[in-house]
Amino acid sequence: MENGAAQQACADGYAAAQLFGQGTTYTYDDVIFLPGHIDFAAHDVDLSTHLTKKIQLAAPIVSSPMDTVTEAEMAIAMATLGGLGFLHNNMTLGEQLSHAQRVKRHVPGFVLAPVVLGPQATVAEYDALRAQGSAGGVCVTDSGGVGGRLVGVVAGRDVDFVADRQGTLLREVMTADVEAAQEASAEEALAQLQRSKRKVLPIVNAAGELVRVATRETSLDERRRPRLGKPSTDAGGRLLVGAAVGTRDDDRERVDALRGAGALDVVILDSSQGDSVYQLQMLALLKRAHPDLEVVAGNVVTGAQAQRLAEAGADALRVGMGSGSICTTQEVCAVGRGQAAAVFQVSRVANGLGVPTIADGGIQTSGHVVKALALGASTVMCGSLFAGTAEAPGKYFEVDGVRVKAYRGMGSLEAMAKGSETRYYSDTQALKIAQGVAGTVRDKGSVRRTVPYLLQAVRQGLQDLGARDLPAARAALASGAQRVEARSSSAQAEGNVHDMHSFKKVRW
Ligand code: NAD
Ligand code: IMP
Repeated sequence: MENGAAQQACADGYAAAQLFGQGTTYTYDDVIFLPGHIDFAAHDVDLSTHLTKKIQLAAPIVSSPMDTVTEAEMAIAMATLGGLGFLHNNMTLGEQLSHAQRVKRHVPGFVLAPVVLGPQATVAEYDALRAQGSAGGVCVTDSGGVGGRLVGVVAGRDVDFVADRQGTLLREVMTADVEAAQEASAEEALAQLQRSKRKVLPIVNAAGELVRVATRETSLDERRRPRLGKPSTDAGGRLLVGAAVGTRDDDRERVDALRGAGALDVVILDSSQGDSVYQLQMLALLKRAHPDLEVVAGNVVTGAQAQRLAEAGADALRVGMGSGSICTTQEVCAVGRGQAAAVFQVSRVANGLGVPTIADGGIQTSGHVVKALALGASTVMCGSLFAGTAEAPGKYFEVDGVRVKAYRGMGSLEAMAKGSETRYYSDTQALKIAQGVAGTVRDKGSVRRTVPYLLQAVRQGLQDLGARDLPAARAALASGAQRVEARSSSAQAEGNVHDMHSFKKVRW
C-alpha cells in the first residue's frame, strides 16, 4: 500500500469540518486534538504569526482592550514580549493618547516617565512621592520635568535627617554633582550603575537635558527577562501599540488624533456584534482617511459575518461572542457561540480570504491557546489571564486575606458608568442593560514571567500535534489531516487530575 493510503486506512477521529458541522456548538474544553508525528524539538516550534494582514508578531498573544487589563504598562510589556497590547477606550481621548505615546516612547530597560521635581520643591513634596511608592532617587531639573536641565538628584540619605520638611527646598539638600550618561544603551547603563553602585542613572542629551532614567531595578529586570524573540516594533524601532475605538462619530476623531500623533499602529472596532452598518461605515471611512492603518473588525462568530467584514476591507477579525470570563451576553441576549466552533468557522472563511483571526475570550490555559491556534486563529486575545498581573491597571487590595485586583467586563454597569455611556445612548437611553460583571481576580504576578512560560507550553502542544509552525497547523486543519474529537463529560473529567487525595497544581 502507498504510504498516504496506508495512513488514510488507519486514520481515526474527525476532520474539524466534520466535527463542527453536526449541529452542536463546542467550547475549547469540549474538543480534543489527536496527536501527530514529531520530527522536531519543541524549541524549534516557530510561533511567529500575523496579527493583521500587514503586522507580524513573534508571539501570537495580545491583551484585551479592557479598563482593568490594558493601559500603557501592559501594552509596553506585551510588545516587549513579542505580542501586542490594545489600549481600552473607556477614557478620554487625551488619556488614551497619553498612554499610546508612553508606549511609543518606551525604550526597554529605562524609565521613560520618571518622577522629576524642581529645585524649589520642598522635602515634604519629595516625601509625598515616596509615600506613593514612586520615588527612590528623584531627578531634579530646572523645569521640574523631563526635558529640563538636570541640576541634581535627591535620595533618602539626602533628606533623612531634615527636621523642617515643609521649609527645606530640594536645592538645599540635593546632590548637585550628578553622575549622568549621554544616550547609553540598556547594557551600558547597567554597567555604569554597577560601577557607581548607585540606584539611579539619569540619561541626558548633549545639552544636559534629562531624557530618561535608568534604574538598577529596570536594568536588571531587562537582563533577567527570558528572551522570547524579537519585541514587536514599527519600522522606526518603536514598540507597536493598538487601541480600541467605538463606531460613533467622535471615534473617528480619536483615530485621527492617535494616528496624527504617530501613536497608533492598529485599531480595533470594539463591539460585541461587529456585523453592523456602523462597522461597515467606520471601516470604509478609516480605510479612506488612513489607508496604511490596520483595522480589526468584530466581534464575529459566523462565517457569514466574517465574509461581510473581510470583503469590506477588515485587516483582521476578532472572534468571540459570549465566551469571555466576565460575560453575560449569551444569558442576556441569547446569542453567541461556543468559542471553539466560532474560531473554527470564522477562521475557515477569513483565512480563505487572506484575513487573520484573533481568538478573543475564554482562554484560561495554555491548552486553550493551542486549541485556538490549531483551529485557525493567528493570535489569541486575553482578558482574565492578564487581569490581576502587576502590569494591569489598578492597585492590589485584599479580600478575605487574598491579594486581588479588580477585573470587570466593559459591558458591566460599573464600566458603563465610568465612561462608555455615549455608546449606549441612542439605543437604550436611560435603560442600561449589563452584558458583563465586575469582580476581582487573584494576584498573578508579572506577565513578563507568565507569558514566556505560557508560550513554551504552547510550543510543546504544537510539537505534540506535529506542527512546526502555525501555517503547518492551519494546513493540517484545512486538509483534514489534523484529527479532532468531542469530549464526553467523563472524558473531560478523565483529562483533568483525578483520584488524588490532595494535590497542588503548579503550572510552571
Ligand atoms: P457597541 O458600541 O458596539 O454597541 C452598543 C450599542 O450601540 C449597540 O446597540 C450598537 O448597535 C449601537 N451603536 C454602535 N454604533 C452606533 C452608531 N454609530 N449609531 C447608532 N448606534 C450605534 O458596544 P457593545 O457591543 O455593547 O460592547 C461594549 C463593550 O463590551 C465592548 O468593549 C465589547 O468588547 C464588550 N462586550 C463584548 C462582548 C463579547 O462577547 N465579545 C459582549 C458584550 C460586551
Ligand atoms: P476573557 O479573556 O475570557 O476574560 O475574555 C475577555 C474578552 O471578553 C474581551 O476581550 C471581550 O471580547 C469580552 N468582553 C469584555 N467585556 C465584556 C463584557 O462586559 N461582556 C461580555 N464580554 C466582554
